[in-house]
Amino acid sequence: MSGNSKTGMVDLPGQARVIIVGGGIIGCSTAYHLAKMGCNDVVLLEQHKLTSGSTFHAAGLVGQLRTNANITQLLGYSVELYQTLEQETGLATGWKMNGGLRLACNEARWTEVKRQATTAHSFGLDMHLLTPQEALDLWPVMDIEDLVGAAFLPTDGQVNPSDITQSLASGARKGGVQICEDTEVSGFDFDGDTIRAVHTNNGTIRCERLVICGGQWSHRLGQLAGVNIPLVSVQHQYLVTDRIASVPTDLPTLRDPDRLTYFKEEVGGLVMGGYEPNPIPWAQDGIPEGFNYTLLDNDWDHFEPLLEQAIARVPSLADAGIKQMLNGPESFTPDGNFILGAAPERKNVFVGTGFNAFGIASGGGAGMALAEWVLKDQPPFDLWPVDIRRFGQPHKDIEWVRKRTLEAYSKHYTMAWPHEENKSCRPCRRSPLYDSLVSQGACFGEKLGWERPNWFASNPDCALDEYSFERQNWFEAVGQEHQAVRERVAVFDQSSFAKYRVSGADAARALCWICANDIDASVGTVVYTQMLNHRGGIECDLTVTRIGEEEFYLVTGTGFATHDLDWIRSNIPTDCDARIEDVTTAWAVLSLMGPKAREVLQPLVRDDISNAAFPFGRMHELAICGAMVRALRVSYVGELGWELHVPVEFAATIYQELMSAGKDHGIVNAGYRAIESLRLEKAYRAWSADIGPDYSPLEAGLGWAVDLKSGKSFIGREAVLAQKQQPLVKSLACFTLPDKDVVLLGRETIYRDNERVGWLSSAGWGYTTNTNIGLGYVRNASGVDKDYLQAGTYELEVAGERLPCELHLQPLYDPGMSKPKR
Ligand SMILES: Cc1cc2nc3c(=O)[nH]c(=O)nc-3n(C[C@H](O)[C@H](O)[C@H](O)COP(=O)(O)OP(=O)(O)OC[C@H]3O[C@@H](n4cnc5c(N)ncnc54)[C@H](O)[C@@H]3O)c2cc1C
Repeated sequence: MSGNSKTGMVDLPGQARVIIVGGGIIGCSTAYHLAKMGCNDVVLLEQHKLTSGSTFHAAGLVGQLRTNANITQLLGYSVELYQTLEQETGLATGWKMNGGLRLACNEARWTEVKRQATTAHSFGLDMHLLTPQEALDLWPVMDIEDLVGAAFLPTDGQVNPSDITQSLASGARKGGVQICEDTEVSGFDFDGDTIRAVHTNNGTIRCERLVICGGQWSHRLGQLAGVNIPLVSVQHQYLVTDRIASVPTDLPTLRDPDRLTYFKEEVGGLVMGGYEPNPIPWAQDGIPEGFNYTLLDNDWDHFEPLLEQAIARVPSLADAGIKQMLNGPESFTPDGNFILGAAPERKNVFVGTGFNAFGIASGGGAGMALAEWVLKDQPPFDLWPVDIRRFGQPHKDIEWVRKRTLEAYSKHYTMAWPHEENKSCRPCRRSPLYDSLVSQGACFGEKLGWERPNWFASNPDCALDEYSFERQNWFEAVGQEHQAVRERVAVFDQSSFAKYRVSGADAARALCWICANDIDASVGTVVYTQMLNHRGGIECDLTVTRIGEEEFYLVTGTGFATHDLDWIRSNIPTDCDARIEDVTTAWAVLSLMGPKAREVLQPLVRDDISNAAFPFGRMHELAICGAMVRALRVSYVGELGWELHVPVEFAATIYQELMSAGKDHGIVNAGYRAIESLRLEKAYRAWSADIGPDYSPLEAGLGWAVDLKSGKSFIGREAVLAQKQQPLVKSLACFTLPDKDVVLLGRETIYRDNERVGWLSSAGWGYTTNTNIGLGYVRNASGVDKDYLQAGTYELEVAGERLPCELHLQPLYDPGMSKPKR
């Protein structure tokens, strides 16, 4: 092991606007982009030398395609930057746009690859499907006997990781950034939620903003800064061969997921690595002192199964000399995505870390986005899949994080099945109904640690998902739950909803400022509202119920618990006497939904719950079985119903009462997959899929939920008003495709009159309408209105095939109508 050289001779300034901790590719790229954006009062602190963390030992593959459009865009930005950086800085980067090849060796994988190609087209990336022979022409050193097909992304490439980082650092220095090597950050000075100064072995620097880009050291740095950064170190190995005569220098990078391996050309030989199904965690008790420019001992036994797979693909590997075998640890995260953004625990701390062995590919884009986040307090576009606020309660336990991360690592190249659930760390958070639902056949999914019933099997022994790209084994069961909701009544356990109490003399004033809809209504009013950013984009989508003159009860999606809490807390005006507390675990939620819901609930309560006495959009406190239950008359499934918010200790009792009272009405348990189908028929939008910070309420067709009439001022109002004056450049529409054999999953490409205009933001089967349903935005720079939408002829690209579909501008299902709209 080489040790740190801490000279203590580095001259630090006393103050900087931005301090970046970490001189790997991410810290250097962030520094480079801050300078580009005109901020040069920046100091980058590196405990040893630039690149001496994970960056120096990366393999250097640069792939772009991800499952999210904006993350793909971020990686596409990296490619653009890497193409020109050498010219700009004069320092070589080793960038080579030799393309990327992805193989498929069985039918299911081929379907996955074809769907990935469609996703690439949706996101504007060129990705061709190839026959095995065409793939061989591009990659002549492989055996193609087992190949079904392949896909080729011509703009993928490779770089030299250390060189590109030095090149970024050089650009940063030219832009005025001060880079201090041999400077280890050891602690921070706090002023409440704000970090005021950074302590190092070379002195203390005051700062306005702190950016943690510490790679696998980030968890520890986060602890010092009071920020939870859930990542762990995992060993990752690859080998480098001597020259192989048949390897051309323009060989594309190759991913062979069925054999869990990847390849790239290097100096006439090959780099070959992979993702083992049994990954080995590293540094479970902390990273040893002085671990820079350091590699771990090779573990040939562990690598051998991958090598066997690699030799089967590239037979000449068997005789190739091995120049180097390399075992380097890298930071991985519980969901395989990196961690970016403003830390919710602090006012001025930002994070860019946890790059899961694609930090070189992400470096350019992630640095650009992080720099903008630091300077403008918001990212350039929605980055929810990598946002640090996607984590929650269980991610504070590093052992939980480690187990889940090892699962994510082991699945890196396995089939990414539709609707696939994680297996590790379960069950974790359970509603009081969990055991009862298990015994009744619930098959659970998991979100932020919560077990949530996805569907119910008639035989509890069969409550297991069987994954495929066709209709999965739960399809009929979910259809029955769906039908029960439409025709009779069902109970959904939605206890995992995130819930907050906002209270104080100025609670209404604070929420009026944060909410786009008018929430300043009488006690007992439930308001569906969005919370907008200053660009008019939708940051949160939730219900706000007035409980008292100075108290509100807010309910939002399970997965948005940290995000929405942070958004609301940080936007409460400082002159308001208002506070927010998370009350999620105090309340269980039983949603009683369906046309017979009233007949089930009425006998259990003394209050009149007729439509006249208890209309839609109201909350009454109902006494049931000794509990005071908050009954919210709302619905996400398009039927009569109540969300019954029940103090947790009463949940099991009230559930039993509902089930007994509903027996004669044919009550059933129903799960989240039925909700998905029901809400698609009603075209109810889902945040993080159909709506989010990049979409305004006008574009999403939610203008009716924005209060522009009363003249009250709220965040995003000016942006919405400005947008009203211009043609919309995108607009949400609904599409149907009646063929049951086609499975829509989301991200399918939308074509209007033969031109690509967008992709499906969410999709599924509608059991009442008997069609595939997709929601998605139609985009057109010169305007999208109703006439434009209706004038087009539409197709959807599904797994490479274009299929005609129908456009709808109204929800497909309306319970007021005798028949569903078709
Ligand atoms: C074997 C292997 C192969 C890989 N192959 C690829 C690939 O082909 N393509 C790809 O895109 N990615 C690949 N990666 C991943 C890539 O190497 C990383 O994602 C990337 O280097 C992460 O960069 P970083 O800046 O986040 O972290 P690092 O490079 O680790 O930088 C963090 C820096 O922070 C410094 N630091 C930590 N604590 C302190 C402190 N207290 N004070 C001051 N400084 C501190 C460290 O010294 C370090 O230099 C691979 C990784 C491995 C291990």
